[in-house]
Amino acid sequence: MLSDFHTHTTFCDGENTPEEIVLYAIDNGFASIGFSGHGYTSFDLRYCMKDKAAYISEINRLKKKYKNKIQVYTGVEEDAFSPVNRSDFDYIIGSSHYFLDGETYYPIDSSYDYFKKCLELFKYDIITLSETYYSAFCDYILKRKPDIVGHFDVITKFDMIDTPRFLSNPEYLKIADKYMTEAVKSDVIFEVNTGAIARGLRTTPYPHENLLYLLKKHNGKLILSSDSHRLDTLTFNFDETKKFLRDIGFEYVYTIYDNEFKKDYL
Ligand SMILES: [Zn+2]
Ligand SMILES: [Zn+2]
Repeated sequence: MLSDFHTHTTFCDGENTPEEIVLYAIDNGFASIGFSGHGYTSFDLRYCMKDKAAYISEINRLKKKYKNKIQVYTGVEEDAFSPVNRSDFDYIIGSSHYFLDGETYYPIDSSYDYFKKCLELFKYDIITLSETYYSAFCDYILKRKPDIVGHFDVITKFDMIDTPRFLSNPEYLKIADKYMTEAVKSDVIFEVNTGAIARGLRTTPYPHENLLYLLKKHNGKLILSSDSHRLDTLTFNFDETKKFLRDIGFEYVYTIYDNEFKKDYL
C-alpha cells in the first residue's frame, strides 16, 4: 500500500502546495497521504507554519474534494521544544531539532554550518552532545507519546559527508542503544525516514541499521516516511528500504488508513 505521512508544503518550508502533492499522490496510486507541516516555533520562524488555521482548512478542503480518490490526513511535525494542540491534528510526528543553551536554540540538522555551531557548543565532545540530545528527546517521547517519532538519530546527519564522528564510535553507539531501548518502551511508532538519502547525505535511512536491529529485538513499530520538501521525493527509496527492513527481520510497517494505524506487510 503506497502512502507517505511526513511531507512539507508551502505552508512551512516545502516547495509544493498540498493540492499539488495530493494530485501527484493520486497519479501515482497512493492509498493515503498525510501532511506534517512544522509546528509553530516562536524561537525560530524560518521553517515553521505561521498560519495553522489556513493549513488545516486547506487540508480539510482537499480531504473532501478528493475523498473518492485518496485518503488525506492532517498531521504536524511537532518540535520537542514547542508542543502543539493535539486535538487540531489527525496525528503528530514528534521530532527534536534543537539544543537549548541559556536562551539560545541551536538547530542540529538544518545545515552543516548550524551543525558545526552545535559541535562548538559542546566543544566537539560528541559523547556529551549525544547524551544531552538523547536524554532530552527520550524524556519527551516517554511523556508526550507522539504518534510517530521523527528521525530519531538525526544528529548523525552529516556523518557521511564530513569527519565520521558518531556511527563509527562505539561510545556513541552505546548511548544511542541505551536511549533507543528506553524510547521503545513508549510503544510509539518510529519512522524510517529516507529524507537524507534523497538529499545525498546518507545511503541508509534514519534510524541507523544498528538501531533498527534493536527495534526489531524489542518489537518496535515502524512507519516509512520520506520527509519530503518537494513532491518528486515522495516515497523516495521506499522499495529499497522495504527490502532493507525485510533483511533485518521486519514483516510489516504501519500506515494510516480509515483513520487508524494499520499493519502493511512488506
Ligand atoms: Zn524534522
Ligand atoms: Zn520533516
